[in-house]
Amino acid sequence: MTDLFDFAPPPPLYAVMGNPVDHSLSPQIHGMFARQFDMALDYRRVHVDVGGFKQAVDSFRAAGGQGVNVTIPFKIDAWELADRRTERTEAAGAANTLWFKDNLIHADNTDGAGLVRDITANIAFDVAGRRVLIVGAGGAVRGVLGPLLGETPAALAIANRSVDKAEALAQLFAGRARVETTGFEALKGRSFDLVVNGTSASLKGELPPLPQGLFSRGALAYDMMYSREGTPFLHWAAEHGAAQCADGLGMLVEQAAESFYVWHGKRPDTAPVIEKLKWSA
Ligand code: NDP
Repeated sequence: MTDLFDFAPPPPLYAVMGNPVDHSLSPQIHGMFARQFDMALDYRRVHVDVGGFKQAVDSFRAAGGQGVNVTIPFKIDAWELADRRTERTEAAGAANTLWFKDNLIHADNTDGAGLVRDITANIAFDVAGRRVLIVGAGGAVRGVLGPLLGETPAALAIANRSVDKAEALAQLFAGRARVETTGFEALKGRSFDLVVNGTSASLKGELPPLPQGLFSRGALAYDMMYSREGTPFLHWAAEHGAAQCADGLGMLVEQAAESFYVWHGKRPDTAPVIEKLKWSA
């Protein structure tokens, strides 16, 4: 006979949804965080067909899912699906973290907090009073603009291939901070203390057409993409005067830590996780 008290409830169910999603390191990262707290956790990868995000979330909730991380290309769908959004998510227009409570879908965007934490805490680069250039104006940049502006840089410019997209992004923050927008050509002769590559060019082995002389003395070059071999942008930056170069692995782990905190109220130690992934990612 089964002892009633032997019954163990299933571990809480979470997932990352995206397309593609096979490459996602999120299950590994959340698994390592959970082990730090001796927590049982069932965290899966869910491949979602384009156009099928709402249905996937509904099915996951019906199966007992408690929260979802969202990656390319569903961050805007996640924002639209949410009943309640945190302030930083409202401004970003894109969400990467959902959870279900009181029959409502709640949304957060932890990408910006992840980037800022990696730059300011892990790399120990102070953004306050610095001239910042963000290259790219897609979903990832939408999420990080507000938190970066919160660090009070002296100036922040967005350069994008399609300048109208950069202008639309800057408009989101009109009245709160002055965000300059520019094409690549107009960057000639200018220099910045922090240059963040938020384009997807590195994913295709490409480099945005950036001019020489872009990095001021002591500048940090940061690529949101991560790769053990380095990225085209970081190789270029190292050859063109950046004092420090960093890829987006730290951002990935820090945004996950922020999601973990939002879901479970516990702040994991990110340093050993970043270190482990550096050698295995
Ligand atoms: P989007 O598709 O939304 O945006 C792509 C951006 O890249 C656009 O601004 C586009 O310009 C620009 N772009 C693409 N190719 C080129 C090129 N060859 N030259 C110049 N500009 C180019 O992508 P996301 O914003 O979602 O992602 C951007 C990057 O950020 C990806 O590499 C992704 O992996 C990374 N990322 C990393 C995270 C982390 O945790 N480390 C989290 C989220 C994203 P245009 O508008 O003119 O088309």
